[in-house]
Amino acid sequence: MLKVEHIGIAVKELSVAIPLFEALLQTPCYKTESVASEQVNTAFFLKGETKIELLESTSPEGVIARYIEKKGEGLHHIAFDVADIEAEMKRLKEAGFVLLSETPRQGADNKLVCFLHPKSTNGVLVELCQERQ
Ligand code: ZN
Repeated sequence: MLKVEHIGIAVKELSVAIPLFEALLQTPCYKTESVASEQVNTAFFLKGETKIELLESTSPEGVIARYIEKKGEGLHHIAFDVADIEAEMKRLKEAGFVLLSETPRQGADNKLVCFLHPKSTNGVLVELCQERQ
């Protein structure tokens, strides 16, 4: 793992959360993007080298909607940048971590992603992400 790539925050409504985070961070949202396969709309902020991703569900059945229903809005995942996602998935699986998908998936921000089940990571949802070439 190379570094923390971003921190993911689950929100009910981007239209409310974007201006809030713009005021908090004193920086404009630089990108919004929908990821249909994951049923989310995302919004990105960059502060120094730290990226923040806000996630809004596009469906009441989506993972973000279900997360908010159970736990409320807030910190959702920590994403780590990896150079070779398939090698990292293999390494982590062999080390006993539980992967939420067998193959990398298309994520927001031109990334290949894979999540680790929080039951194998002290309750933290961890996302691996690799920049697409
Ligand atoms: Zn993420």
